[in-house]
Amino acid sequence: MSVTMEKIVSLCKRRGFIFQSSEIYGGINACYDYGPLGVELKKNIKEIWWRSMVYERDDIVGLDAAILMHPRVWEASGHVAGFTDPLVDCRICKQRFREDEIPPAKWEKRQCPHCGNVGSLTDARQFNLMFKTHMGPIEEDASVVYLRPETAQGIYVNFKNVIDSSRKKIPFGIAQIGKAFRNEITPGNFTFRTREFEQAEMQFFVKPGHDEAKFEMWQKIRMDWYRRIGIRENKMRFRPHGSGELAHYAKAAMDIEYEYPIGWKELEGIHNRTDYDLTRHQEYSGKDLSYFDDASRERFVPYIIETSAGIDRTVLTCLIDGYEEEKLDNETRIVLHLDPKIAPIKTAVFPLVNRDGMPELAHQIAKELMGDFNVFYDDSGAVGRRYRRQDEAGTPYCITIDSQTLQDQTVTIRDRDSMKQDRVPIHGISVELKNRIQGKN
Ligand code: ATP
Repeated sequence: MSVTMEKIVSLCKRRGFIFQSSEIYGGINACYDYGPLGVELKKNIKEIWWRSMVYERDDIVGLDAAILMHPRVWEASGHVAGFTDPLVDCRICKQRFREDEIPPAKWEKRQCPHCGNVGSLTDARQFNLMFKTHMGPIEEDASVVYLRPETAQGIYVNFKNVIDSSRKKIPFGIAQIGKAFRNEITPGNFTFRTREFEQAEMQFFVKPGHDEAKFEMWQKIRMDWYRRIGIRENKMRFRPHGSGELAHYAKAAMDIEYEYPIGWKELEGIHNRTDYDLTRHQEYSGKDLSYFDDASRERFVPYIIETSAGIDRTVLTCLIDGYEEEKLDNETRIVLHLDPKIAPIKTAVFPLVNRDGMPELAHQIAKELMGDFNVFYDDSGAVGRRYRRQDEAGTPYCITIDSQTLQDQTVTIRDRDSMKQDRVPIHGISVELKNRIQGKN
């Protein structure tokens, strides 16, 4: 049975991965909250991204810039003038569209894709996607500030600060994870396109002329990263941008796409942004953002290779990629095959029955494991049902304390994917789990 967005939405709500924001008030469009399981999944994904970008390399450092920035930043970046989508309204059914989403044959007749009426669509108006607010108590034009629509600009404006304080030499990168906001015209498909989302971006500064090789290098590294968090290789592909669709700042762009239930769509963008960003910030700020290269005794404005990932979109991708409805002899089990490294709960501990000292021993084992893992204790209902609940939560290993445990101090570890159970001594469980989570067994 194939996975649909509706099945993912329903699992997310049922198990506490993702909820509609402000649901008890009827919800607010295109904003979502992460529940107890979702927050762990998201945190694990961010942690692996940070580890691979910052800790496992000696040429990237981290940054955490403010969401609100000087309004001139967004003039320099081109967002005030150019971060717009063409908005089209249907005069009859009041639906809104992005012009580029309307099939050309319909657009020619101004036919609404929703209600079908011919001649009902307005001309396209350019609509700026940045959220505006006011800084300070007076709501006047001079106090307008924007919620950042991307995290990248916080990195560019800190380029000099980071160089001067960290003594990094080019080529090097700056990585950042943080919230971004876009007043999307047509959000939708659950958390695929929302108005508030989290980005994980890395800007790699290189000498002009070295940009093309690094652009290639980063495509490979980023594709490898998605494999590392367990996404199936045959569901991903590269898609280069044609010259007609390149953003104003980019010399080349490559998307990593995933095959979602709604088709192949962008998961991450990798861009060769040239010296556009630093040159513009130089012009608008009047500050010198060039770099002196000791090795070649040359001064230049660095080129930038950007890797821009969406954390919420990655969470959604992992949920979709891992979802399976598996036919067993007389039932269907829903299982989330999340990579153990990103699974919200690493292990669940069950006493087989609630007597003979089994719950006490199970509690003790769970407590000991809590120092190292996110552990869930469950003693309610038949053990088969408890396994099923963990399968849906993506918990890779379940530990069961049974009557044999009381005799020989061994427990069973059940594997979520194969459903195979192995007996291991209690004193070895922690190491056993660690090895399995790291893929060493
Ligand atoms: P699109 O053209 O589809 O609007 P984009 O090309 O503008 O997207 P980027 O600016 O390259 O997207 O953003 C980088 C990444 O940030 C995307 O690959 C995606 O993972 C994430 N992202 C962008 N917009 C949203 C959104 N509205 N909701 C969730 N994630 C988003």
